[in-house]
Amino acid sequence: MFDRYCGDYAKQTAALLMAAGALTPFATGAAETEEAALITSVRQLTFEGRRAGEGYFSRDGTQIVFQSEREPGNPFYQIYLLDLETGDTRRMSNGVGKTTCAWIHPDGGKVLFASTHLDPEAEAKQKEELEQRASGTGRRYAWSFDPTYDIFETPAAGGELVRLTDAEGYDAEGSWSPDGEFILFASNRHAYSEPLSAEEQEILERDESYFMDLYVMRADGSDVRRLTDEPGYDGGPFYSHDGSKIVWRRFAPDGGTAEIYTANPDGSGAKAITRLAAMSWAPFFHPSGDYVIFATNLHGFGNFELYMVDTEGRRDPVRVTDSEGFDGLPVFSPDGAQISWSSARTSDGKPQLFLADWNDAEARRLLGLADSGDASQPATQPATLPPALPPTKAAIDPDDLRRHVEVLAAPEMNGRLTGSPGERRATAYVASAFEALGLTPAGDDGGYFQGFDFTASVKLGAENELTIDGVDQAPILDRDWRPLGLSATGSTEPADVVFAGYGIVAPGDGDAEPYDSYGELDVADKWVLILRYLPEGIGQERRQQLYRYAELSYKAAVARARGAQGLLVATGPMARAKDPLVPLTFESAAAGSSLAALSVSDELAQAMLAGAGKHIAELQGALDSGESLEGFELPGVRVAAEIDLVQETAGGRNVLARLQAGEAASDSAVVIGAHVDHLGRGLEGKSLALPEEQGQVHFGADDNASGVAALLEIAEYLADLKARGKWQPKRDVIFAAWSGEEIGLLGSTHFTRSFDDGETLHPAIAAYLNMDMVGRLDDKLILQGVGSSPVWPQEIEKRNVPVGLSIVTNDSAFMATDATAFYLKGVPVLNAFTGAHGDYSTPRDTADKLNYVGMQKVARLMALITRSLATAEAAPDYVRQDPTGQSPRRRMSRVYMGTIPDYTLTDGAGARISGVAKDGPAASGGLMKGDIVVEMAGQAIANIYDYSHALDSLKIGVPVGLVVLRGGERVSLTITPGARE
Ligand SMILES: [Zn+2]
Repeated sequence: MFDRYCGDYAKQTAALLMAAGALTPFATGAAETEEAALITSVRQLTFEGRRAGEGYFSRDGTQIVFQSEREPGNPFYQIYLLDLETGDTRRMSNGVGKTTCAWIHPDGGKVLFASTHLDPEAEAKQKEELEQRASGTGRRYAWSFDPTYDIFETPAAGGELVRLTDAEGYDAEGSWSPDGEFILFASNRHAYSEPLSAEEQEILERDESYFMDLYVMRADGSDVRRLTDEPGYDGGPFYSHDGSKIVWRRFAPDGGTAEIYTANPDGSGAKAITRLAAMSWAPFFHPSGDYVIFATNLHGFGNFELYMVDTEGRRDPVRVTDSEGFDGLPVFSPDGAQISWSSARTSDGKPQLFLADWNDAEARRLLGLADSGDASQPATQPATLPPALPPTKAAIDPDDLRRHVEVLAAPEMNGRLTGSPGERRATAYVASAFEALGLTPAGDDGGYFQGFDFTASVKLGAENELTIDGVDQAPILDRDWRPLGLSATGSTEPADVVFAGYGIVAPGDGDAEPYDSYGELDVADKWVLILRYLPEGIGQERRQQLYRYAELSYKAAVARARGAQGLLVATGPMARAKDPLVPLTFESAAAGSSLAALSVSDELAQAMLAGAGKHIAELQGALDSGESLEGFELPGVRVAAEIDLVQETAGGRNVLARLQAGEAASDSAVVIGAHVDHLGRGLEGKSLALPEEQGQVHFGADDNASGVAALLEIAEYLADLKARGKWQPKRDVIFAAWSGEEIGLLGSTHFTRSFDDGETLHPAIAAYLNMDMVGRLDDKLILQGVGSSPVWPQEIEKRNVPVGLSIVTNDSAFMATDATAFYLKGVPVLNAFTGAHGDYSTPRDTADKLNYVGMQKVARLMALITRSLATAEAAPDYVRQDPTGQSPRRRMSRVYMGTIPDYTLTDGAGARISGVAKDGPAASGGLMKGDIVVEMAGQAIANIYDYSHALDSLKIGVPVGLVVLRGGERVSLTITPGARE
């Protein structure tokens, strides 16, 4: 209950009096509502607990103190301090008894409120109230003015409660004067200390509020003076922003109506500024001192609305809100630009605190007041008060974000391909930013960098030879043919050749038919000649369906799963490719294939097709128009090859820094990261550049200069918070800029392996937060991985309070970004993503297209969540998810195995299983975490592509044989795949 303003009481009293015929119905106000013109960007500030109200700003506008019913075991209000900068909420009262009416000292260091915690019966009253609520009977009115209420103050940082009043009677509704010298409050103490007539005694038993009057005392509780002595309830007093006036509401002696009054701080010059003959209460000065906002039930007993009136009460009050249900207890922010109030415009109809922007100019126009001009605005506060915001430099700032993005996405960075000079430059920039912030290096050998090796490129060895029987010309290396980077090495026996169209096998998808280039074609121990890419002339949806199955690595896996000996890839004359032969590039995830694979020129392909009486241009033309062609043999053509490839290793590097909670590194840390690498000038198989954009720099502003820029701003902000003593973390925060993400989560995977080689990193890593593409905020932020821990929903809700983003959440923790490397190691993960767009993975992803104000919001939210997790006592719980169909490549399949494959293994030894779903088909068949699948359905499995493809060929309910490596032994298993829901 809102004791200060007696909201429930007023309603109850009014209802009682109405029933007794003591009141005439109020005239409904003629005032038109101006809500939309006066208050905008309305949002709910508190959510927790049964209800909340009486929110009051600190003098610097950075905090709000309020009361809320949210303590388990205590049905009454307790007092909470909400930091508007961080979203932190801390209880100020001690949890016992009833509290109400808080206020923040002008220097921000103390909070005062009224409390009954010293009442020996406080806990018994809590219990009784809980029982009454459970039984559904009404609350006991008599407790509203509990005479054991006294005023206390407590340090905002936490500490002992200091008692400021000790008279018998209800002492509450207190607030400090703007200079902190005095406390203005309300009390009915004289009814308990002075002799009462029999009539007065009878009133006291019925209505203690009748005796309420205004008092003032020195800030230490001394020198108490009574300011009013009229019969009836005087209460809810506040000073004006400059301390020259006070405002309060005065009930008529019968308690039926109340009006708004102002007076000098000593109580002289009291006058009513409303004459509404309704219950008008909860007044608060605008900081300009020119007008007062208050609540009134002019429109019906239960329907309190906000109104405002000029300070002199010269004109009629003007209506502010027009929402159904309760609106009351309004206050202005110290700068006058915002309004906070309690409103029942909530989903459950219970009041909570709301915040909105306030249109002062419109308010003045409606009230007939002159423009305030800048001079009368309270922007110029006394010099002794702290500034409203931390210094701009340390705050998360749109201009700083833009600066970081413009550096990282500059042409000199050349698209930041892992292991390239551009990646070295970009990572050096990140390291120097970390160093400038004074963060502790957390990379190799006491530095900021953490290096990792990967197979960056392949070169032709000396021993490459292609022999084709049945074709006149002898193929020349690099003119007529070239091995694919994903090819097996060594020599093959001569074998027959079959043509299999585009070599694509794709399952149906919704209305789309399955696509199968092979059909009944027998390719066992043969070479398969196929076309590169996918059919040109088919519709957009069909292309979308086939796209993921058209990668060469996937086509190779398809051929190999059908027992082919080798793959021959021709580009075909209809395709718009610069290079007739496939460039020699290394694809990490396809390493270790046991299939010989090479690219041949259109001329050489034509020479092989000639014997079958076919022409490559005609075949391609037919396929491109959507025709399905039967595959066929190429009579008389036999191919043998010797393939010699030399893999070259290169180094990439992560950048790692630590914000230490204490002197040494903590046992548990929160990691927040973003990948810094991108596609260079268009990584084969990843770039979505248009033909005319091929080979241009892929700037990667959104993907993922945006995430790294946010990371740097978050690091700066948190380091500053800690330096200012605004934050005492319990565990370190590790800031990570990953390389190698685009080529297979290499950097983050290397980190998770280097950090600890155990099965789980949790709770050594309490949680991992990731940002991948946060620069294109449109209307909603997408937060992924929310199902990985029960902590996320509440953290997101709480920390979004000061940020105010519109958010959609996604539970799945299997994502095509670095978060997955952590999730697979048992760490709760959360990824921020502002959504896909047409410039993704093209040279058009540039810095000028980002929404930097949106990025600021995303970064603030992620910073506050990081801060909160680093402050919490315990690491958040981890939730294991059913991985079925969760991986980026497995969404299409309808077959359910219940395995979590390890997407990062690159050594060609098989597909490692990093987890199995409990009670899933794989688990039932005996497959275990850590097994390496080397054979499935009779086909050898060299890598994740093979495994992924083999899964597509399985049938629901038909048992399949697997061979796995477990502790060096080959183990045979039988698994019966289930159906996905
Ligand atoms: Zn990315």
